[in-house]
Amino acid sequence: MGLTEGRLAKTVWDNPAEIIRAMQPENPVMVFAPTVLQDRARRFLAGFPGLVTYAVKSNPDEAVIQNLVAAGIRGFDVASPFEIDLIGRLAPLAARHYHNPVRSQAEIAHAVHAGIKAWSVDSRSELDKLFAQVPPEGCEISPRFKLPVAGAAYDFGSKFGASPELAAELLRAVADRGYVASLTFHPGTQCVDPAAWETYIRTAGDIAELAGIRPTRLNVGGGFPSWRVHGVEPDLSAIFARIGETTTEVFGKDAPTLVCEPGRGMCADAFSLITRVKAVRDGTSVFLNDGVYGGLTELPIIGNLDRIEVFRPDGTLRGENGAGRVVFGPTCDSVDRLPGELSLPEDIAEGDFAVFHGAGAYSVVTNTRFNGFGEMRHVTAMSLD
Ligand SMILES: *Cc1c(COP(=O)(O)O)cnc(C)c1O
Repeated sequence: MGLTEGRLAKTVWDNPAEIIRAMQPENPVMVFAPTVLQDRARRFLAGFPGLVTYAVKSNPDEAVIQNLVAAGIRGFDVASPFEIDLIGRLAPLAARHYHNPVRSQAEIAHAVHAGIKAWSVDSRSELDKLFAQVPPEGCEISPRFKLPVAGAAYDFGSKFGASPELAAELLRAVADRGYVASLTFHPGTQCVDPAAWETYIRTAGDIAELAGIRPTRLNVGGGFPSWRVHGVEPDLSAIFARIGETTTEVFGKDAPTLVCEPGRGMCADAFSLITRVKAVRDGTSVFLNDGVYGGLTELPIIGNLDRIEVFRPDGTLRGENGAGRVVFGPTCDSVDRLPGELSLPEDIAEGDFAVFHGAGAYSVVTNTRFNGFGEMRHVTAMSLD
C-alpha cells in the first residue's frame, strides 16, 4: 500500500486541514468531531437545571446519537415513527418524547406499540385522537402553546402551538382524563436572547393558573443557539440561568421539573463542512461545489453561517476574510445562492477549499441529489481547528 492509500484509509483525521491536504476532496465533506459533541453535551448536562433531551431531527446521524448517549444524554425528542425506532434501537433505555403535535392514526398506533410515554398536543382534535388510543397509565401529555415570536431566527409558532387560553383548556382536559399533565413550548430556533424563554415561562405560569393545575413538567423546547457568527460565541450559561431563575420566580418551591430539547445548540458546532471553489467567475462571484440543495440548505432561511475559513489546496490558510462576494452553489437553479454576500479572502482562487464551521444542524438529512450533485462524504476528526 502506497503512502497516499494509507492516508486515505485513515478513519480519524486530525482536522479539516489534514483532510484537505490528503484527500483534495472534489465533493463536499462533512467533518464530525465527536469530542466537540461530547463536550457540548456535558455543558448542557452540567448547566441546564433539568432533563436534557436531544431533538433528533437536527442531525439523526447514528454516530451523533451514540456519542450523546456516551456523554450521558438519556432522553430524545422524536417526531416520526422512523425517529422513534432509531432511538429505540440505538438508546433502548432512553426516554422518547413524541413532540410532533400532529400525527396520523397509524403513527399514534406505532408509537403506542413502541412504548412511547410522552406526547405533546396543540389542538382539541389531536387530543381526542390521543385519548382514543393512548392508555393514561404513566403517560404524559403536554399541551404546546405559542406566543408571537420573540428573539428567534425564525418563527416556529406559525405552524404549531395553541393560544394560552386553548392550552389551559387542553391542560385541564388532560388532567381530568388521568394523564400526567405537563406543558411545553418551542421558542423558535437560534434564540440568542434569554428573554425568549423568560416570556414563555411567565406565560406557562398564567396558563397553569387559568387551568387551576400545576404542570408536572415544563419543557422549554429547543432554540439554544449554535455559534454562527465569527467572533460572537453564544452564552449558553446565561440562558440556563435565566430559565432556572424565572421558573423558580414564577412557580415558587413547587415548580414543575424542567426539560429542554436542544437540536442545533447541541450538534451544529461539532461539524465543519468542507466545500471546494469550482470557479471564481471573472474574478467576482464564487461558485462552490455545495449550496442550498446540499449541506447549506438552511442559510437562505436563517441567514449566513459566517464562520468560514479558506484553505489553499496545500492545506495552508489564506489570509483574513475581506470584501463581500456573491456565492453560488453548483446546481443550475438560480435560487442556489447563499444570502447576501459572504466575506472571503481577497485572493480566494479556484481549487481552494472553503470550510464552514458550525454546519452540523439541518444539513445532513436535508442534503439532496438535485441536479446530480450532493454526493457528501462523512469523515471523523479529532478537532475542527
Ligand atoms: C426542531 C425542534 C426542536 C429543536 O430545535 P432547535 O432550534 O434545533 O434547538 C426542539 N423541539 C421541537 C418540538 C422541535 O420541533
